Amino acid sequence: MVNTAEIRKLFPILNTEVNGKPLVYFDNGATTQKPKSVIDCERHYYEKLNANIHRGVHHLSQISTDAFEASRKAVQSFINAKHSEEIIFTNGTTEGINIVAQSFRKSGFVGKGDEILISALEHHSNIVPWQMLAEEVEATVKVVPFNEKGELDTEAFRSLINQRTKIVAISHISNALGSINPIKKFIDWSHALGIPVLIDGAQAAPHCKLDMQELDADFYTFSAHKMYGPTGVGVLYGKRDWLNKMEPVVGGGEMIATVSFDKTTYAELPHKFEAGTPNIAGVIALKPAIEFIEKVGFDEIHAIEQQLLDYATEKLSALPDVRIIGTAENKASLVSFIVDGVHPYDIGTILDKMGIAVRTGHHCAQPIMDQFKIPGTIRASFAIYNTTEEIDALVKGLERAINMLK
Ligand code: PMP
Repeated sequence: MVNTAEIRKLFPILNTEVNGKPLVYFDNGATTQKPKSVIDCERHYYEKLNANIHRGVHHLSQISTDAFEASRKAVQSFINAKHSEEIIFTNGTTEGINIVAQSFRKSGFVGKGDEILISALEHHSNIVPWQMLAEEVEATVKVVPFNEKGELDTEAFRSLINQRTKIVAISHISNALGSINPIKKFIDWSHALGIPVLIDGAQAAPHCKLDMQELDADFYTFSAHKMYGPTGVGVLYGKRDWLNKMEPVVGGGEMIATVSFDKTTYAELPHKFEAGTPNIAGVIALKPAIEFIEKVGFDEIHAIEQQLLDYATEKLSALPDVRIIGTAENKASLVSFIVDGVHPYDIGTILDKMGIAVRTGHHCAQPIMDQFKIPGTIRASFAIYNTTEEIDALVKGLERAINMLK
């Protein structure tokens, strides 16, 4: 079993005090903290390697390029993609989804009268790009509903998908409720009709072993900053056949083969989708984040996070004024809840005074809040370095906050 105290030593920020109290960081769904190896890697890049990549003949450019491409290989192996050129570096999940949506428009893969199937559990990042696309080409966005536990309605999925559906875009794990969606079923059912599937994996990458060859998703997007890596870096995985036939949507340097005023031709994958100078330091520092996760291992991650989830669910459910929102059977390590008669923001503000960082609000998933008829929730989302003692601190803090506010 992993020694949490040893893991915590790897994260310098966990020694921080907030408002004179030891930091309890439960906002991992928004972004995780970074181990020293990731911080050191970024610093090392700027101190020792800094150069632009891919074009330079000089020493620093070559070693920067090697380090950048080593990160691509690390991602390939982390998600078991078949080919390294199926890994496109982006600036985050949001950009990955927008690239696919806009490329589907530009490539003519979605047109007038077509349908795009998403779910009611999506983050705005997996709603708005499809609405924009639908508006541009006069297509329709269809939405798979969820039940009172926050589980997607699989029967509704089957009745909504049809020959007009040109892409299915669904999250692996809901950031607002923690529901783990049955994406393998959705992928298989979609493929039976020849329809491609994009999975928003922003909340899954730090928690689940990903295997692209087994999952068979056509596109899978995630963000480095939610998996112990740097901000400003994301991954768009796409099957090679799809990426090859898709038009790039951002033009510029790096993504071309030849440029003339008569005709420009595009570079091979992955460069076709990586125009301009990327976040080189960030991409390079994603590798130690992956190494950190792999060293702990997903069996351990799962065991610890499940324990945190069970403990938090039990303790929070015991508080009379607290109602947990999202009780899916299959759930990731986060608890979203409301306190009867009190606005989530007020609770969050009082908890902050006690050094406890939670997220309050609609979590960029307003349609979910609308369905539950609530303005938002308080969300405690856990990572591998969290402890049951920290959950005790949250529960105590909540009791105090409720006493103050009610
Ligand atoms: N999808 C989900 C499910 C998320 O949780 C998030 C981040 N909260 C995003 C997409 C967007 O990620 P990013 O802001 O890193 O692009």
